[in-house]
Amino acid sequence: MSTLRPGTAGATRACPHCKATILESASVCPACRGHLRYDEASIQREKTKVVPLQIEGTLSPPSGDNVFEYSMVLSIRDERGKEVNRQVIGVGALHPDDVRSFTLQVEMTEAGAAKSRRRH
Ligand SMILES: [Zn+2]
Repeated sequence: MSTLRPGTAGATRACPHCKATILESASVCPACRGHLRYDEASIQREKTKVVPLQIEGTLSPPSGDNVFEYSMVLSIRDERGKEVNRQVIGVGALHPDDVRSFTLQVEMTEAGAAKSRRRH
């Protein structure tokens, strides 16, 4: 959970369905896709949603009889390169002939009436 005040851009809460940490403003949980809000403001905010970054890749282990293990690691850095979040999203094993697909998606929506921190 962030320490940002409710109503502030970037404020978070726990999804009531899956307990993932999500934006307080989210109308749909990006983790479990459960619907959370139906008010007009969140419907309007949902219309501003864009996906400026999406990466997808499929892996299989190198050929041979060896079994491999994998860790999917996510890192978020700020404009100075400082890591603000690092998480292991999932781990597992790849046996010969196994295939796993990994998808990373960043969604952005306008934060409504929230003010920019940038000084003018
Ligand atoms: Zn959820």
